[in-house]
Amino acid sequence: MEYESVIGLETHVQLKTHSKMWCGCANQYGSPANSNVCPVCLGMPGVLPVANDQALRLTALTGMLLNCNIPKHAQFDRKNYFYPDNPKNYQITQLAYPSTEHGVVEFEFEGGMAKVRITRAHLEEDVGKSTHFERHSGVDYNRAGVPLLEIVSEPDIRSADMAHTYLNALIDILRYGKISDCDMEKGMVRCDVNISVRPKGQTELGEKIEIKNMNTISGIRRAINYEVDRQIRALNKGEALNQETRRWDDIAGMTEIMRTKEDAHDYRYFPDPDLMAFEPDDAWMTEVATHVVELPLARKQRFMTEYELPASDAETFVNDVPLGDYFEPIAKASKSPKAVANWIINNLRAKLTESETKLDDLKFEPTAFIELVSLVESGKISTKIAQEVFIEMFTSGKSPAAIVEEKGMAQVSDTSAIEGFCDQAIAANPKSADDFRAGKGAALNFLKGQVMKLSRGKANPNLVGEMLEKKLTA
Ligand SMILES: [Zn+2]
Repeated sequence: MEYESVIGLETHVQLKTHSKMWCGCANQYGSPANSNVCPVCLGMPGVLPVANDQALRLTALTGMLLNCNIPKHAQFDRKNYFYPDNPKNYQITQLAYPSTEHGVVEFEFEGGMAKVRITRAHLEEDVGKSTHFERHSGVDYNRAGVPLLEIVSEPDIRSADMAHTYLNALIDILRYGKISDCDMEKGMVRCDVNISVRPKGQTELGEKIEIKNMNTISGIRRAINYEVDRQIRALNKGEALNQETRRWDDIAGMTEIMRTKEDAHDYRYFPDPDLMAFEPDDAWMTEVATHVVELPLARKQRFMTEYELPASDAETFVNDVPLGDYFEPIAKASKSPKAVANWIINNLRAKLTESETKLDDLKFEPTAFIELVSLVESGKISTKIAQEVFIEMFTSGKSPAAIVEEKGMAQVSDTSAIEGFCDQAIAANPKSADDFRAGKGAALNFLKGQVMKLSRGKANPNLVGEMLEKKLTA
């Protein structure tokens, strides 16, 4: 029987705020253990939470970037459970009234476009981090109370590759919106992956297995592939699958059972009596909307149509936002944006890396690229000479035209000068001249090279070719 996999992702993302969700403690990775804590985030009795406005704004902004509806009424609930990393014995989250819902993420996949619908993105708080030593365990509560956005997708994903591409697209959007740094190595993004399989063509969903707390994209891909295989093998053997929570063991390359799935009622959710409902007014929403940015995919498509760039160049400017922002005004002012893109991607980028220079510290004006391109296109200098001009303008900050003038680099298109070089080259290499006359085409390239050398690279190569041929066939 042929099966299809049905996959949904719950992506937990730490918001890029200055302070935690309910207190003024710093939201900062890498501080000494238990240094960013206070009675509120340690769950001491008698304290009251105060909602972080910046976190509420970033949540609404995420909703806007993911094409979500942002309800006029959101509220916070307590999810009750006991665990050492959860000092209050409940986690503040949103159950019935999330801050955003019903969105979609669109991305390029397998040569076309794919969509994954977003069920909801709700605001909650992170828990502490347990570390297990040889003879004891420790908990660091610096992370407890850090604002966390849980972005729940519909089960629209059909393969490990699609999950991987969706997650990358989502992370790109969140980085563009400055919602989160999404540094997976620092635990800023963690995913719960829901996977079931069903016979192809069946609309009813199979038993759902949840893999908890995945924190690498490669791990997610491997875990999905493993779990889909495991479930299909079980079904083929006639075994029943149960709804359960599993853990991915990255070293063993397999999932193992953690617990049979608990239901929502096990958590005794109830509205947090210390927190009012959040009801954003129009002015607040309008202010948040001013932070909406162009999404990576839209930017890529725009760069391809407006500046006629190939997909790979457009992607470079999508992945390197400052470089793309540097390119755009130059491209707008230039008649040859494609040529400008080549200079920026192939030459400038390498030079910046090599010399550890920042874009802001460049010595030359961005418009220098327009001048450089037009010097090449008008035939004033060859592409080869242009490389030298670029290095010089990068080092000294002088304009390309000034450099060409100063160093006498202009291409020689004066026929009498070129003729002289051609005569010299032929006289010095009679064998090559005979070879060409005998039908060896390659000999012409050698002679051409000699002329270029004599002119110190400044002869117009097209003219040189024409003239040599004329002289040798005369
Ligand atoms: Zn605190």
